Amino acid sequence: MLATIPVTKTTASRLSSELRDNAAFGAVFSDHMLVADYANGKWGEPSIIPYGAQTLAAAPAVAHYGQGIFEGFKAFPRPDGGAVLFRPDANHARMASTCRRMAMPEVPASIFIDGTIALVQLDRNWIPEKAGSALYVRPVMFATGETLGVKPSETFRFIIETCPSGPYFSGAADLIAEDTYVRAFPGGTGAAKCGGNYAGSMLAAIEAQKKGFHNVLWLDGIERRYVEEAGLMNVAFVIGGTVVTPPLSGTILPGITRDSVLTLLRDLQLPVEERRITIDEVFEAHAKGTLQGGAGIGTAAVICPLGRLRHKDREITVPVMSPDSPLMRAGAELEAIRLGKTADRHNWLVSI
Ligand SMILES: *Cc1c(COP(=O)(O)O)cnc(C)c1O
Repeated sequence: MLATIPVTKTTASRLSSELRDNAAFGAVFSDHMLVADYANGKWGEPSIIPYGAQTLAAAPAVAHYGQGIFEGFKAFPRPDGGAVLFRPDANHARMASTCRRMAMPEVPASIFIDGTIALVQLDRNWIPEKAGSALYVRPVMFATGETLGVKPSETFRFIIETCPSGPYFSGAADLIAEDTYVRAFPGGTGAAKCGGNYAGSMLAAIEAQKKGFHNVLWLDGIERRYVEEAGLMNVAFVIGGTVVTPPLSGTILPGITRDSVLTLLRDLQLPVEERRITIDEVFEAHAKGTLQGGAGIGTAAVICPLGRLRHKDREITVPVMSPDSPLMRAGAELEAIRLGKTADRHNWLVSI
């Protein structure tokens, strides 16, 4: 049974088809948000209120010691006029594991999942209808405690915001395998969806962009040889007909899109390997003609084909994948499930 969440509706909706259908990713927020505060060892009652500025302590603990985490998933329009959330329970579970790693209290499903459903139902008309578009749901949680003491905050705020969003990358992603900076290290926070991982990544992304690439392909922090992920997406390559993707080693983010694509590859009985893969193996496969494609995999773009790939002073262009490529077939299957054209056999969809 859904928890009943009190709602204060906006009296000045900003909704227009122009805002909804043409916004850059994350630039426009829907009319409402959900807010819940944690204090005295427990979560207070959540509420849905008009999206807008919030009052914070001048020295919120998140600003000093970085207890700030988030999630991201989407509500998709359906051809029949309805809408579906994709695997919100998996995002809820991942946020719980991020909370544990970051010494933050877990958010109950009655706030995270029921709250998302209530919020998206209320802002239903903000879901864009164009193909490839969706309403992006962004739960975020941060430490609000007002103290400089170095310890976990005793108070936190949890907010769910939503943004209408179009396709994230319009074309192939050009990546540069990162040789100077490291995103994550064994024992660190690489598997947690925390803002700090992003803060430490931005300089590398800026430098990659100055060199004419979209972003960085992260390599492992010890040997700087093993492919990890693409910063906001997991990655997979197609080599000799087999999809190869790095295993969840603790230093990459356990993507829900990655998990869904792997599940569908297995359903379709297509060859897939979760194993360590070096950047040299990718370049050697290209030289031998066995590299047949590659993609970033994540909520934002689902399957985002890779284009140019550079490592040090060598560069290749990852071959374009045909619709028969196993990665593209898994991507198409995922879309068919989302659109209701194929049975939702893994119970991934929650109707709004
Ligand atoms: C969120 C995220 C991903 C992709 O995860 P999905 O659940 O598929 O969206 C990959 N890498 C990082 C660093 C991320 O933060």
